[in-house]
Amino acid sequence: MVFSIGDKITTKKPHACGGNQWVVIRTGADIKIKCAKCERIIMLTPDEVKKIAKKVEKGQ
Ligand SMILES: [Zn+2]
Repeated sequence: MVFSIGDKITTKKPHACGGNQWVVIRTGADIKIKCAKCERIIMLTPDEVKKIAKKVEKGQ
């Protein structure tokens, strides 16, 4: 799975804030995703993103 900026990710487990929607804001060897609810940014490897994602919607 290839991630692009703007992709919307739904995670299996909710974030600490209760939200489970994330937006990809940076791609590459590490992927940065931002919580749509609290705007916290976390950095993960593509494999880690695959592991936590329940659904990925392509952005623009
Ligand atoms: Zn959050």
